[in-house]
Amino acid sequence: MISNNVMVQDEGKDYIFYKASCACGSDDCNQTLELGFRDFKEADLKEIELNLYGRLGQYHLNFWERVKIAFKVLTNGYVELQSDFVFRGEKAIADYIKALEDGLEKIMGIENF
Ligand SMILES: [Zn+2]
Repeated sequence: MISNNVMVQDEGKDYIFYKASCACGSDDCNQTLELGFRDFKEADLKEIELNLYGRLGQYHLNFWERVKIAFKVLTNGYVELQSDFVFRGEKAIADYIKALEDGLEKIMGIENF
């Protein structure tokens, strides 16, 4: 565990997952960081990858909001949704950076890289 905001969720030989908690306190906007080692054998390429996963949250919409979104989809052919993740304070940001640094150090330490 790095802090209450960022903790190791899962770890394997060539990957590490961190769970980062949003400052708003809702589990709905938690983020998962995956640092992993990828061996693209067919391309003779070895890379370190960082993936960020998060939900867009849950929206409780009233009838007219749903009608407006449906109308946008009908007229535009798409709808945009946004999600926020809040870092509150220096420590939360530093913890996130530390998770990235620790994970990167681990993955770069893998043999054959
Ligand atoms: Zn949030």
